[in-house]
Amino acid sequence: MRLDLTVLQRGLALFKPLQRCQLCHVDAPWQHAVCQTCWQQLPWRSQPVQRQEMQIQVAFDYLYPINRMIQQFKYEQQLQYQLLLAGALQQLRYDKIQAIVPMPISTARLAERGYNQSLVLAKSLAKHLNVPIWQPVTRLQQHAQKGLSRLERLEDIHQQFQIQTVPKIRYRRVLIVDDVVTTGSSIHALKQQLLNLGCHKVNAACVVASAD
Ligand SMILES: [Zn+2]
Repeated sequence: MRLDLTVLQRGLALFKPLQRCQLCHVDAPWQHAVCQTCWQQLPWRSQPVQRQEMQIQVAFDYLYPINRMIQQFKYEQQLQYQLLLAGALQQLRYDKIQAIVPMPISTARLAERGYNQSLVLAKSLAKHLNVPIWQPVTRLQQHAQKGLSRLERLEDIHQQFQIQTVPKIRYRRVLIVDDVVTTGSSIHALKQQLLNLGCHKVNAACVVASAD
């Protein structure tokens, strides 16, 4: 007899076993990899942040334990935290969009890290919202910005974002997804390029807002 895997998986989904919470390590019913108590106690942010004349949707403030999870997710290959971080992005309210644009990282940084953390989160949100991922803008080498004036830094960031080849498909209403927003200058620079490509509306969502 041939085992129908889909039916089997559906059956298993109905029977949800307890799972270990990634934060308190208690076996409990799960919500995006943490128990309900831990989920409720996360540093949720109720308001969007204002950066570079843009309103950016944000799930959390940069506080414990999110700050540690973000650091480990980004720099220490702790990819299991994507469940919680992407789950948090799903809680935000979105305007109707046609595609998600993950914040690009340079090839050098990608080689060093092995993955683009924003793309990981964007893929999960794209699946949830049922829209495609769109990556028409690439990012050149990110330089150390020490010693540069504020204006030089902004100029440098704007030069990092490049349209290599004009894409065949173009979307009008898009959402930029990034893990952390600090000054918002990279989101602003990416938005400019998307507007150059003909986007009418560019929104942005980040997991965490860090103080400027
Ligand atoms: Zn817990």
